[in-house]
Amino acid sequence: MQKINFARERNPVIARHGVLVVDDSELQRTSTILALQHADIDLIYQAGDGHEALAVIDNLLVPPAIVVIDLDMPGMDGIELIQRMAQNNYRPGVIIGSGADAILIAAVETILSELNMPLLGSMKKPLSEEFMREALGRFDASVRHKSEAFPDLSELTPARLRKALANNEIRPHYQPKISLKDSRLAGVEALARWHTDEWGPISPARFIPLAERWGMIDVLTLAILDCVLRDMYEWRRRGIDVSVAINLSGSALSDRNFCGQMFERIGQAETRADAFVFEITESALFSDMATALSAVSRLRLKGFGVSLDDYGTGFSSVQQLSRIPFTELKIDRSFVSGAPRKEHLCAILQSSIEMGKRLGLRTVAEGVETLAELRLMQQFGCDDVQGYLFARPMPSGEIEDWFHFDIANIEKICSLARKS
Ligand code: C2E
Ligand code: CA
Ligand code: CA
Repeated sequence: MQKINFARERNPVIARHGVLVVDDSELQRTSTILALQHADIDLIYQAGDGHEALAVIDNLLVPPAIVVIDLDMPGMDGIELIQRMAQNNYRPGVIIGSGADAILIAAVETILSELNMPLLGSMKKPLSEEFMREALGRFDASVRHKSEAFPDLSELTPARLRKALANNEIRPHYQPKISLKDSRLAGVEALARWHTDEWGPISPARFIPLAERWGMIDVLTLAILDCVLRDMYEWRRRGIDVSVAINLSGSALSDRNFCGQMFERIGQAETRADAFVFEITESALFSDMATALSAVSRLRLKGFGVSLDDYGTGFSSVQQLSRIPFTELKIDRSFVSGAPRKEHLCAILQSSIEMGKRLGLRTVAEGVETLAELRLMQQFGCDDVQGYLFARPMPSGEIEDWFHFDIANIEKICSLARKS
């Protein structure tokens, strides 16, 4: 094979992160790998179904930039794999190779676009080298403007993360939540931020899973909690009384000792328990119902709010939901984003909000970016909204300014949406 004809510069992100090929047929897998090799890709991983693919991704410090997926596989199929990756906040470029009908491939294209995962190409198998080159070329365009989402973290070690925690390099930013009833600040969500000298800012979607894997998530959560307690104290001194939502990982729930440490810190700070909401994702909760039930019940006993985060991305049933004493349902932003133009998203949103209300829960929509999306939430009677339309996450010092100066704008934005 002559390669001189294709003297294109190789994409450094693909070269560093590699490509994962998922196909149950060994023959097809080998043929796809050959096409990739001919297109100058050296770092190639493979898996025989969705479960195996998730295990491969989970074990890599630097996850693949691109995943080539066969749709029809025994075990976990390609569509479920796509959903599970999005649920883990992992959005590689996707190439679909399938024996399936064009109409099924078209449906998967819609799923990908709704999950904000770039589709680089789809083709009936076998995948040719020419198709592969074109698809790889599209990756360039899809990540060029967001290459910060792909910093090379191959040098990041557990020791480096431990040092970051010891030196308070990881701290929370805060994003306001707005109550639609009175256009006031309903609270803020604390979101972990890590700015490094070596790699610039690293997204929590990258470092939180590492902290979980390396057994440091409890230390991280306590570090965030300490910052939150200090910031709340400062805000209160300046007359700002605001409740704070803190994200908890699944592992925290199963560790009774950890919950005890949290309660102790909050108790020492003499802060009202109802000024805290703990956000727990659907997937973290329902992996172990008994542990989830007892952890959430304990939090409630102490008077804290408990929110079911990323609602809609997991597979919980209404029956499961009704058995756990949440106070809040937080609808994932994948259902909010673009909903005004998509009937089925509207239907999901409306029924989620109605169900939340019937169960007596506060409903919160995250990821509200446009007036049209806000208007939908007003129509559906959602209690609170959060999103870039109002504010991005900001450092604690800016919350105070925002509280004093921007609060006037909220009423304007809400009434504009009502009229739009
Ligand atoms: P999440 O809990 O679902 O948080 C919402 C994410 O959506 C945040 O991303 C936020 O910045 C982003 N966001 C808010 N409004 C908008 C919007 O209008 N448009 C768009 N496109 N995005 C919006 P972020 O800060 O990158 O956090 C990602 C995830 O990392 C969080 O998702 C959460 O699962 C996790 N995380 C962050 N901080 C912590 C933490 O302290 N502990 C744990 N366990 N997880 C954390
Ligand atoms: Ca959250
Ligand atoms: Ca979410």
